[in-house]
Amino acid sequence: MKRSVPQEVLDVHSRLRKAGFEAYLVGGCVRDLLLNREPKDWDITTNAKPEEIQPLYEETFYENAYGTVGVVTQSENPRLKVIEVTPYRIEGEYSNARHPDDVTWANNLSDDLKRRDFTINAIAYDPETDTVVDEHNGQEDIKKKVVASVGDPNERFAEDALRMLRAIRIAAELDFALDGNTAQGIARNASKLGDISRERVRDELIRILMSDRPLQALYVAQKLGILKYIIPELEEGIGCAQNQAHSFDVFEHLMRSLQHAADKKWPLEVRLAALLHDVGKPATRRFSEDKKDWTFYGHDVVSARMAKKILSELKFSKEVIAKVEILVRWHMFFSDPDTVTLTAVRRLISRVGAENMPDLVNLRVCDRIGTGRPKAHPFRLRKYMSMIDEAMRDPVSVAMLKIDGNRIMEVGEKAGPRIGWVLHALLEEVLDDPAKNSEEYLENRTQELLKLSDEALKKVGEAGKDRRAEEDAAAVKVLRDKHHVS
Ligand code: ATP
Ligand code: MG
Repeated sequence: MKRSVPQEVLDVHSRLRKAGFEAYLVGGCVRDLLLNREPKDWDITTNAKPEEIQPLYEETFYENAYGTVGVVTQSENPRLKVIEVTPYRIEGEYSNARHPDDVTWANNLSDDLKRRDFTINAIAYDPETDTVVDEHNGQEDIKKKVVASVGDPNERFAEDALRMLRAIRIAAELDFALDGNTAQGIARNASKLGDISRERVRDELIRILMSDRPLQALYVAQKLGILKYIIPELEEGIGCAQNQAHSFDVFEHLMRSLQHAADKKWPLEVRLAALLHDVGKPATRRFSEDKKDWTFYGHDVVSARMAKKILSELKFSKEVIAKVEILVRWHMFFSDPDTVTLTAVRRLISRVGAENMPDLVNLRVCDRIGTGRPKAHPFRLRKYMSMIDEAMRDPVSVAMLKIDGNRIMEVGEKAGPRIGWVLHALLEEVLDDPAKNSEEYLENRTQELLKLSDEALKKVGEAGKDRRAEEDAAAVKVLRDKHHVS
């Protein structure tokens, strides 16, 4: 095993040993070495205290309340740039399941291993003597491919409820199963996940979504009762039958769409959008006597609002939220053959942003595969894609107009909001007819537009925006009370 430990890690380790301390690689890196996976980061545990660790290295920083010292190496590899050295410790009393109250040093390795979450994460390795210390049968569990708590799962989850989600995340990443008692412990303590900080939950959720098996992981989370404390809205889709084009209920459809995004290794935003694109369906479902089938009018608008609320509560970044909201809002575009003219495609690109179009198409593919239809790129979608390519050559944003704010000021307007209104009014015209994007035409139109009063000009300038807001408001109104979306 020693052969697989990078030189940088061996160096950090041997300094501690030469200074007379005990030191072991521990946690995820030992687990990953035993599995022949590349560790995400390297952790060393030692009987030295922070003030004894720091003088042994040229560059260190004292990281946090857990006594972890970051040792900075010369490596270019981001996984090796900082090696974390942490003194043996036990955790103090837990006043609630939110976070460990205080940190107490432990005297020996055994005590440190006991406080770790899972047996597979509680193996220590000394590369100098090539010895493995495995007091909780972690190696056996690695062979059996199970995630099992160290000690009584019930107690361990009560101490720190995040461990429940970590168990599911680690199982998803490694393609392991949950040990039976551990799964029972999760079912019993599920509600405690509600007390955990949303940032910690978010980070584990991201890793579940970015794993190769998010469908399996979220099904397990649902079955064991913790999905309600992550994204409760998803559970409304369980048993929510769809129209005849769909074989699955809303929940299964979302899970399958997400899994396809993972199979394709698409980025986080596409995976989140796949997971949430129909989250508003249960709330918009109505039976149509005409069609003798269920309808979901406005579910794209409602799902986008709900996605924004869900992701905000989970403290995702503004950028991620904005992108997912846009993708969900427009995911229905390609399914409606009536809207598809080149002008409509240009308007779509102008709303969605050219940079988001490839992800929107990918979301559409996830949606299709998620219905159980085998073909990712049927004829119609291929046709839309070629229309997108064509429309992308035409102007779809104010910046692409053959006139700008400076030129409008030269034509005869002073700096102020009227400039923006003119530009947007011109863009609306050019979206309808790209041939109008010539200096001559736009300057003539500018002169006419500038004759309008502020009020009238604002109205034409914001016509596009207003129309969208009205459409959205109509769809959301019905549901506002039920779902508290705004
Ligand atoms: P990865 O590095 O792939 O995220 P990891 O298992 O190393 O996986 P880390 O978050 O780096 O996870 O944690 C390092 C080690 O610290 C774990 O292997 C485990 O031994 C211990 N640990 C982390 N979080 C907890 C926790 N909430 N409760 C108990 N032990 C934990
Ligand atoms: Mg780690």
